[in-house]
Amino acid sequence: MDDLKFGKRNKRGDWAPDAPIETAPLFDFPPRLKAVLHWLPHYFFPWNAIFAASAVAYWAWVVPSVETMQSISIGWAAWLYAVNAACVFLFYGAFELHLYVLRRQQNRFKYNGKFPSEQRSKAFWFESQNIDNMLRTFLSGVTIWTGIEVVMLWAYANGYAPWLSLAENPWTLALVALVVPIIHEFHFFCVHRLIHTPFLYKWVHSVHHNSVNPSPWSSLSMHPVEHLLYFGTAFYHLILPSNPVIMLYQLHFAGFGAIPGHVGFDKVEVTDDKAIDSHAYTHYLHHKYFEVNYGDALIPLDKWFGTFHDGTPEGEARMQERYRKRKERLAARKARLEAKGATQ
Ligand SMILES: [Zn+2]
Ligand SMILES: [Zn+2]
Repeated sequence: MDDLKFGKRNKRGDWAPDAPIETAPLFDFPPRLKAVLHWLPHYFFPWNAIFAASAVAYWAWVVPSVETMQSISIGWAAWLYAVNAACVFLFYGAFELHLYVLRRQQNRFKYNGKFPSEQRSKAFWFESQNIDNMLRTFLSGVTIWTGIEVVMLWAYANGYAPWLSLAENPWTLALVALVVPIIHEFHFFCVHRLIHTPFLYKWVHSVHHNSVNPSPWSSLSMHPVEHLLYFGTAFYHLILPSNPVIMLYQLHFAGFGAIPGHVGFDKVEVTDDKAIDSHAYTHYLHHKYFEVNYGDALIPLDKWFGTFHDGTPEGEARMQERYRKRKERLAARKARLEAKGATQ
């Protein structure tokens, strides 16, 4: 596919889409029904459908019986870890193999012209982004994901979480399943904004931001505290009228769903003339500029809080203006403190 029909490549070899990033029309006011209907299929396909289907498959073939889950044991916890790790390895690995190892579409639609394996950095374990990211994914990422999964399933098995049956409450469950991505977006935005405060950024979130040029394995490359906060999204189901399958969908949305935002390519080519949109540009700009796009544009939270960058020169100017104003504020505060110090 000719990526220059969809965007531009600069001298450094970085590609950027022509079309500005748009937030989902779901929260537009006044409501735009036609736009919502046009957008709706993208809400389900392909990504959300994959994560929901994987949750159903887990419930059918992976999750042990309710009696087994009434008490936590290393046996079924280790089994869940093994399945999660295998699925992450296969799912993330497929993108890595296709786009980064075999480089089947070379640099077409690739935001950053360079591949991480070409750039060694002391910021990473063994100076390798890939080794560092993979180790963090399997050592703490999948471990904490599984830990929360085990606790939640144990809670369901013992009646500590509301478990609605599909036969009796189909509409309530359909509604909760429908808002799973919205819960994720809200939770992720809040947590993400929190870990961008100076102390938590330095000690926790900077680990994830070491990957300035993110690739598939960057998705879950985080500090364990961030993993805990990130997968904590499952705990909403302790109070929501929900069930274990939807709770698993919530976890899979976080675990497997982290990948589209870090894939590094705007489109993943499937055939010569067909490609799947990754919608990764929003989060790519976050990795590039750090203080824009804390969310993924499903809820226009960044627009509401003034931190949205839509990838256009106007978006860039808004960001620069925000930085300039903050610099001014900091300089004024410093001057005030110095003046105070001089009079004492
Ligand atoms: Zn990220
Ligand atoms: Zn961040």
